[in-house]
Amino acid sequence: MTTSKNLGGNRSAFGGAVASALESDLAPRSQRHGSAAAADVFAQMQTMGHEQVLLSHDPSCGYLGIVAIHDTTLGPALGGTRFWQYGSTDEAITDALRLSRGMTYKSAVAGINLGGGKSVIIGDNRRTDREALFRAHGRFIQTLGGRYITAEDIGTSPADMEYIKLETDHVAGLLGLSGDPSPVTAYGVYVGMKAAAQFRWGKDELSGKTVAVQGCGKVASHLASHLQVEGAKLIVTDIDAEKVKQVVRETGARAVAPDEIYDQEADIYAPCALGATVNDETLSRLKVEVIAGGANNQLAEDRHGDELEQRGILYAPDYVINGGGVINVYGELHRWPVERAKKKAGEIYETLLRIFDIARKERIPTYRAADRLAEQRIAAVAGLDRMWVSGRRERRD
Ligand code: NAD
Repeated sequence: MTTSKNLGGNRSAFGGAVASALESDLAPRSQRHGSAAAADVFAQMQTMGHEQVLLSHDPSCGYLGIVAIHDTTLGPALGGTRFWQYGSTDEAITDALRLSRGMTYKSAVAGINLGGGKSVIIGDNRRTDREALFRAHGRFIQTLGGRYITAEDIGTSPADMEYIKLETDHVAGLLGLSGDPSPVTAYGVYVGMKAAAQFRWGKDELSGKTVAVQGCGKVASHLASHLQVEGAKLIVTDIDAEKVKQVVRETGARAVAPDEIYDQEADIYAPCALGATVNDETLSRLKVEVIAGGANNQLAEDRHGDELEQRGILYAPDYVINGGGVINVYGELHRWPVERAKKKAGEIYETLLRIFDIARKERIPTYRAADRLAEQRIAAVAGLDRMWVSGRRERRD
C-alpha cells in the first residue's frame, strides 16, 4: 500500500484552530504549542496509511470542511461528502479517515481506477441556506486540482452537488447524469448473493431460498424485485410501515417487525438498512448460512467477521457486494451508458468467488480475504510506476 504523506502540498487549504494545530506539527519542536490533536492525526494517518488530510474554514457562511485522501495509487480519490453534526473535530476527522480508507478498498476490488477519499462538512444537515456552504466546499475541492472527487453521501443531495459544481468540475452524482445509484447497487448485491449461493450450495439459483431483507428502502426494494423474479421467498422489515407495505404489495414478501428479522428461519440475511447489525447481540440469533446485503459497515467489529467464520456463516464482505454504487459514479465520470455500469457491477459475482476462494485456501475470514485482494491490486498497479511512460496518467480511463 502506498503511504506517501503529502501534507505539505496543500497547506493553503488549512484553516481554523485545528488547522493551526496541524500546521504547528510541521513546525520545529521548539515552536509547537498544544499540538496533541495534530500528533494524533499523524498517528492515525500512519496507522491507516493516509496520504493527506486537509481542513478548511470559511467564516462567511460558517463552513467547516475536511477532506481525507487515503490512497491515490489507482486514480483520483473519490468518496462522498458527509454533512453531519459531529460531537467534536476529532470525531469528524476520524470519520473522514475511516471512510476514505474504506473507499480505497471498495474501488480497488470493484476494478475501477479510483483511489479512496472522503469529505465531511461539520454542521446541522437540516440547514436550508445551503448555496454558500456547498459552494465553499466546492472551492475547497477545487484547490485539490482533481486529486479528490466528491459525490453524495449522508446529509447531502443532488441539489447540493449542483452548488459544488458551480465551483469545481470534480464532483459526480449530478442531476440528469447517472442519477440514483441504488438500482446498480441492488443489481450488484443480487449477483453477489448468487455468487455466495454458488459457493455455499454448489449452484447459484436463489429460487426456493428464503431471504430475510432488512430495510425496504431504495437498495432493498430493487433487490427484492430481482429476488422475487427469480423465485426466492422473501421476508422483509423496515421501521417505515409504508415502505414495507409497498414491497409486500410488489413482491408478495412476508413482513415481520424490525427486531424479528434476526430470528427468521431463512437461508440468507440481507442487511440493507443500517451498519453494525452483525454484532454480539444478533450473532447468536441468526440462523442463516449466508449474509449478503447492501448496507455499509455490516460488522460491528472485525471480530464479528471472525465469529461468522467460526459459525460457518458465509459472509459476502459489504464493500465488495455493494460496490455497484461507486461503479455507477465512475460510469458517470466517464459518461458510460447505464448498461455498461450494470455490466461492470455484474463482475461482483466473479470477484466474490475469488474472495471466497482466497478465504478457503488461506483459512482466513472472507472480510480479510477481500482486504487482501484490494491490497494486491493496489500493489500490482503501484509496481508499474517504476517504468516511466510519457502521458501515462492521462491515458487512464
Ligand atoms: P434508504 O434510506 O433508501 O433505505 C434504508 C431503509 O432502512 C429506510 O427505509 C429506513 O427506514 C430503513 N431502516 C432504518 N432503520 C431500520 C431498522 N432498525 N430496521 C429496519 N429498517 C430500518 O437507503 P439505501 O440507499 O437503500 O441504502 C441502504 C444501505 O445501503 C445503507 O447502509 C447505505 O449506506 C448502503 N449503500 C447504498 C448504496 C446506494 O446506491 N444507495 C450504495 C452502497 C451502499
